[in-house]
Parts: sequence; structure tokens; C-alpha cells
Amino acid sequence: MEYISGEILTKDGFIKGYIGFQNKKIIEFGSEKPKKKPIATGFIIPTLINSHTHIGDHFIKKLKINLPKNIEKLVAPPNGLKHKLLNDTPEKEIINGMKESINIMSNSGTSKFFDFRENGISGIIQLNKATRDNKNISPVILSRPNQLRYDKDEINLILNNSQGIGLSSITDWNYSEILKIAKHTKLKKKIFTIHSSERLRENIDQILDLKPDFLIHMNYATESDLIRVKENNISIVICPRSNKFFKLKTNYKIMEKLDINLMLGTDNAMINTPNILTELKYYKKINKIDSNEKLLNMITYNPRKALNLDYNIPDIKSSKEFIILDKTSLEIRNIPFSHEEIKNDN
Ligand SMILES: [Zn+2]
Repeated sequence: MEYISGEILTKDGFIKGYIGFQNKKIIEFGSEKPKKKPIATGFIIPTLINSHTHIGDHFIKKLKINLPKNIEKLVAPPNGLKHKLLNDTPEKEIINGMKESINIMSNSGTSKFFDFRENGISGIIQLNKATRDNKNISPVILSRPNQLRYDKDEINLILNNSQGIGLSSITDWNYSEILKIAKHTKLKKKIFTIHSSERLRENIDQILDLKPDFLIHMNYATESDLIRVKENNISIVICPRSNKFFKLKTNYKIMEKLDINLMLGTDNAMINTPNILTELKYYKKINKIDSNEKLLNMITYNPRKALNLDYNIPDIKSSKEFIILDKTSLEIRNIPFSHEEIKNDN
């Protein structure tokens, strides 16, 4: 039997301990010292979750064009540069870009990513083609209709093929259409989420009336808006490197103070690598956060909480999916025991 030891991140915080495994199976864990010298030490944590991606635009990175730093010109539907390029590019090229994003995430310990899927049902099919060959990572697909309008049949179709809806923003849409989509999504018991107050403050009543499961950004929300979000027990995904790229105002300090359930996302793959550890380290640096527990929760337990997943390590029965990080660099340790191997060995 081989051992790894260190600080195990449970859902109630860090505990010191070790995990013993053999033939890629977890045999034991304990809080004492392991019986044999461990092959690696560090933070033993659940596999990572990237809570906000658009990997469909990864191919744009390879075009080596100067991307406008104006959020509307670059990403707003239907006329943003990204949407023009998505419509003009052969599907194979889009899928190959997605595959690159998926490999980057999988190689950095990510087992799940919440992808905001553009282009209706064809966008969902593209993502499924891209993830098919990688058994170590699975998407939470948050789809959207092809056009900025509600069509009952289309919503049924995309909801039957995804985990829910992820819309651009109430500013881009006619509000009554969004409301119909949100109600339809809730009726089907699927996830509803939306980019909110990213580049300007949006009406908090309108946002909350949509009954979102979680919100993306909230950069321009006021403190009173954020208090309402907290009171409604809604989680927020923040994307610090994306905010930096677009030079947007941020609200991290208030969100932290209000103890909102915060998650991290890497946003558009054409702008930033989808490696969530890179995002985490950037957030740690700009906010001078010392608590590794707080930081690591943002990419492990907090998103699982937002999805209502009951999850904990080390629990041999319910979970075999964990990784080990170097305590100083927060980089994934290269040991012969990865979540990939565990997952392939049920
Ligand atoms: Zn986004």
C-alpha cells in the first residue's frame, strides 16, 4: 500500500491526516501518521470545479487577432465579434478548440466545468462531441436559445439536452422573454442562471424575480443588491482575470464581507486559460487572501453546494475523487495517483 498525507480539506475545513491506497483504490485514511513514508504530501482536496467557462470561443485565441477590450463589441449577442466568428467558423475548428480547453482543465485537476453554451442545440452537440473522449471531466451544460427570444419547443429541446439555461444578461434581452424562459426552466426543475450587473448595474428585482440558482459577475451591483442576493441564499461566480481584461469595477471585498457563497470561473477561453488554479492564484494575489481554506473552497465545495451535491472527502464510500496540491505553489503534484486513475477504476 502507498500513502499520501497532509492536510485534507473536508467540508468542515482542514484536518491533518493520510490516505492509503493500493492498485489505485483507496484502502484507508486516518488522522495519525501513515505506517510508511508517504509518496507525496500537501493539500488533499476534492477535484476542482471551474464554475464559469465559454470554451466554444477557444478557437479564437488561435486566430491571433487583437480582441477589442470593450465587452459589448467582443461578447454581447448578437453582434459581438465572438458571435460573428462562431457563425463563420467550421464546426470542426470550434470543436478542436473546445478539446484543447478540456485537456487544459483535465490536466490541472478539474473534473467539472459549468459551460455557458452558445448557439442553441447545435452548441450543445458540439460540446458533447468535444468531451466524448475524455472520461475524467464532465460539463454542466448551461445552454441558451439560438435567438434572443422565447420559443417553447426550442426551450424543451435544449433543456432535454442540458442541465439548464445560462443567459447573457437582462440588458441584452427583452425582459418578458427571459421571464418566460426562467419559468419554463424552473418547471422542468433545471438550473437557471444569468450574467448579471457585469458592466453596468442591472435591476436587482428583475434579476431575483427570475429565481436564479446562482449569478455570474455582479461587479456593478451595490451593497444593498448584494445583501438581497445573500438573503435569498444565491451563490455568485466571479471571474477576476476576465474583469481585469475588460477593466471592470469589482465587488470582491463586499462579497467576502457578506459571506456570499463565492465560486470562481475562468470565463471566455479566447481571453484566459481555463486553468482554475491560475484564476485562484490571481484572486489570492489581488485580494491578499491568506486563508487557503477559503480560497480552495471556491473551487471545490462552494460550487458543489450551489449544485446541492452532498460531498465530502475523505469518505471512502461516497468519494474517490481528490487531488493533491503543493502547499506553497498550489500546483497539482505529479504523483502516480490522480483523479483520472481513480475515476477509471470503479
Ligand atoms: Zn460569461
